Amino acid sequence: MSLFLLKMPAGPIRVSRVQMVLYAFLLFLLIYFLRGRKAAIGVQSSHPVFHALGKDRGKLTTSVVNVKAAVPQTPMETPWGAQLVWGDSRKSVHRRAQFARQGIHTGLLAFVVGTYAKFVRRFLSSAETYFLPGQMVTYYVLTDNARSLEPPVELGPNRRLKVISVAELPGWEKLAYRRMILLEETIKDTIGNEVEYLYCVDIDQEFVAPVGEEILGDLVATLHPELFGMPRNSFPFEIEKDSSAFVAENEGDFYYTSELYGGLVSELYRLARVCSMLILQDQANGVLVKGLEESYLNRYLINHRPTCVLSPEYSWWDSALAADVPVPRLVSLGRQCEALDTQKKEEFKC
Ligand code: UDP
Repeated sequence: MSLFLLKMPAGPIRVSRVQMVLYAFLLFLLIYFLRGRKAAIGVQSSHPVFHALGKDRGKLTTSVVNVKAAVPQTPMETPWGAQLVWGDSRKSVHRRAQFARQGIHTGLLAFVVGTYAKFVRRFLSSAETYFLPGQMVTYYVLTDNARSLEPPVELGPNRRLKVISVAELPGWEKLAYRRMILLEETIKDTIGNEVEYLYCVDIDQEFVAPVGEEILGDLVATLHPELFGMPRNSFPFEIEKDSSAFVAENEGDFYYTSELYGGLVSELYRLARVCSMLILQDQANGVLVKGLEESYLNRYLINHRPTCVLSPEYSWWDSALAADVPVPRLVSLGRQCEALDTQKKEEFKC
């Protein structure tokens, strides 16, 4: 066996050829790993958000995206054993095939009040392309302005639109407190057993990639893209002890967004009823929560853990904080605008 003499500060050491090769290999691995961690992602094509805003991302690429990690983390299960959904996973492909044969009727419900009317057509036409393609879908639009849907958006076979009138109330905070109550009333008075599954969505969003049967579950919540993978102490749970949305320090697995949640109609009715009660209780006691409706939603989902958790692919916008995901599927145009600096906001007419 040939030996090499290495001069070290503590004196010369004898090293065999095999040991030399091993050390070189370990050094190579270390360098490779460190370089991989540092690599910034390069996005090849124009981002859909900028198509949605009617612009090409062009100059924005470097400033917003490059700080994120190269490889998205995609855990497949929550700590309590519920499925964590990524659209292109093998499990999702299997679930799409499984449900596709069954003919499921799903409702998609959104509020369109005041200035948000400008989002409704883009939202619906993107849902026609990407939301449960080929399945029976009823859109429930709760609006103070039915004329925003004239002329009607063209819908595919087995797809229909129901417009439900709601009274306009000045101030968006009022609506934020009323949405759960209106959802409860609408399920009771209008939706009933018309659909099997029902999903609530913010209207200032756009589907940019397929969202299929993989999202169907009893109680479904979506991970907030800017808080996915972040430590528990960064979650903006309600900290006001007098509030019925209060979350103690030892509670809460994830922070969920209110941009998309749903499940079986019966489950969603229960969720809306409990959240409405908590909201009314706080209002009666003069308690104001920080995160409005989202605080109550998160409180409810701690007590009733979702059976299906959607990854941030299903609620995403391009910001320095948003988790990198394999395929953004539902993008918030409103939050996207918030993530831009003042100059970009003007440029994109946010
Ligand atoms: N919304 C509306 N009119 C308003 C405010 C809100 O129709 O004046 C509806 C709309 O569907 C919107 C959703 O409520 O997408 C959530 O409101 P917002 O986007 O302001 O809440 P955020 O996403 O910022 O929490």
